[in-house]
Amino acid sequence: MLCQTCHRAGSTWIVCDLCRRSLRSASNRILPGGVPVIIAFEHAGPARVLAHHLKYRGLVGYARLVAATLAGEVPPGPLVPVPRSLSRRLRYGTDPALLLATLLSRETGSPVYRLLRAPLHTPRRAGGDHRREVTIPGLRKRTLESVVLVDDVMTTGATLEAAVFAIGVEQVRAAVVANAVPDLTTRSLSRFGVSSETRRRTRI
Ligand SMILES: [Zn+2]
Repeated sequence: MLCQTCHRAGSTWIVCDLCRRSLRSASNRILPGGVPVIIAFEHAGPARVLAHHLKYRGLVGYARLVAATLAGEVPPGPLVPVPRSLSRRLRYGTDPALLLATLLSRETGSPVYRLLRAPLHTPRRAGGDHRREVTIPGLRKRTLESVVLVDDVMTTGATLEAAVFAIGVEQVRAAVVANAVPDLTTRSLSRFGVSSETRRRTRI
């Protein structure tokens, strides 16, 4: 099997040993309002390539890896994906955050609540102009439960902040994301809980 990152033959799953070793775990962060963000990997090197495959090519192996990596760290509570815009979902045929939430649900037993309404169109942000205003997503319904937001890539954190704002900060227990761009403006935390053990158990 070819490694999805470097295309070398002989990898046993989605990436070869060399690329697996160069996946960098990211420090967790706190959004304004105090919501902790649990992050699988830094958005760099192989993780960046794999996230790109997930977003734009519909290759789901990376979502499985991230779900297995984060499963032991996700707090209890319904998982709420930050939806991709309808135009992008149609164009690329996939909604990475929904896929990740579904796989995390299988690992943790927590249900998926699609509380946030997908916008019709959002301007490109990943790798684009991050100063652009973020639209606050609409809410399909209110919930009294504390929920966990799920997203694929965190750049400035503005999209997650908008989702927290829509749901209400007191209702959001945490956010989990596959990749995060290093950002010195958000406060880094030492990793919570069982991450190193989870990482050791994770087979790529
Ligand atoms: Zn490789």
